Amino acid sequence: MLRFAPSPTGDMHIGNLRVAIFNYIVAKQKNERFLLRIEDTDKERNVEGKDREIMDILAKFSIEWEDTIYQSQNLTFHQNFAYKLLEEKKAFVCFCTPQELQKERERAKELKIPYRYSGKCEQITIEEAAKRNEPFVIRVKKPSHTIKFSDIIKGDMSFEPKEVDSFVILRADGTSTYNFACAIDDMLHDISIVIRGEDHLSNTPKQIYIRNLLGYNKEIEYCHLPIILNRDGKKMSKRENASSVKWLLENGFLPQAIANYLIALGNTTPTEIFTLHEAIEWFDLKKISKAPAKFDLERLRYINREHLKRTSPKKLAELLEYEDEEIGELAKIYLEEASTLNEISQKIEKLFNGEREHPEYQKEITQLKSAILARDLPDNFEELKKDLINRSGLKGKRFFKPLRILLTGEEHGPEISLLYPHLKKFIKEVLK
Ligand code: GLU
Repeated sequence: MLRFAPSPTGDMHIGNLRVAIFNYIVAKQKNERFLLRIEDTDKERNVEGKDREIMDILAKFSIEWEDTIYQSQNLTFHQNFAYKLLEEKKAFVCFCTPQELQKERERAKELKIPYRYSGKCEQITIEEAAKRNEPFVIRVKKPSHTIKFSDIIKGDMSFEPKEVDSFVILRADGTSTYNFACAIDDMLHDISIVIRGEDHLSNTPKQIYIRNLLGYNKEIEYCHLPIILNRDGKKMSKRENASSVKWLLENGFLPQAIANYLIALGNTTPTEIFTLHEAIEWFDLKKISKAPAKFDLERLRYINREHLKRTSPKKLAELLEYEDEEIGELAKIYLEEASTLNEISQKIEKLFNGEREHPEYQKEITQLKSAILARDLPDNFEELKKDLINRSGLKGKRFFKPLRILLTGEEHGPEISLLYPHLKKFIKEVLK
């Protein structure tokens, strides 16, 4: 079983979407089940409604999953396992106050050494602990051996006991910490391979250690994806618009183009433009580059346009929320200069509502407008052109420019002869 385990704490980041896509592809390739696990154990950071938003986004990307689990549903398991480790003396009760720990952290910072738990409460027995009526957390005892695993992208990894440390598994309010919940849930759900962001690399030895302490020895494969950097080579932050999947969708990028872009990022692919479905045929995690990938909006725009070019006029009209397929035909032509649905929409909007006036060509505009309104419009642009030239006596720029303004609501744009056949049925209504 594979899983995608987002926290419902904010807008979905493209890095998370990439993780979801990769997990989905590998689940399909291995013919294994795919689980959505909403990691909602950190109540303070949860944002109402984000779980639904995640599901809606996955559906838009045609990512299908079998089951949805809320991590908080597994709380009883987390607690029982924490107490089991306590009984077996693999974990201990810790009474250190947040203030005390904060001081120790600050001290480590001053000394420029990584903070590690002091070990102060490690010897307290359960009997002693039971007598104290104070808030406590449960910590796991730090390992006595090096923890090793092999990552599909990063290769062999090795962590010393002090890097794992005696970390908290159960908080004072009885809820489980991320590492503990995640380690247990991956075990309970029989996960075979974990694909996630590189920011979790240092959590992996902790999670492996927990499962080993619980006697679960089935090996889970790991694959940590390099982070996505922005154009300046810095980690792409949540505040950058283009890092939000919602923003990209709202700005007229197609799900299949975003998926194409994210699959190709830091990867070698047999073709430049492909669908998620096609990628299942050849995708290989081992081909992902170890180096961080740079997000390039221009590249995404190019890929989006290529996908738009491959979209039928009917579908395009639908995406632009028009019923008339003819709008889809017009949209196709505007792809010469537009790369997103929103950019096409602006062009179409101009066709219908753009300014039909121009100080320099006012006379010509008035003249051509009445000529157009006075006759039945032919199918063929050449025929219309000849007729209008004959009637108006205008030529060259003084003919074409006002005609373009009248027909398209803009001074510049694609060939009018290409637009005209699809514009024809609307134009009289627009000019009235
Ligand atoms: N909730 C974690 C995140 O969103 C999940 C990490 C994991 O896949 O284990 O980063």
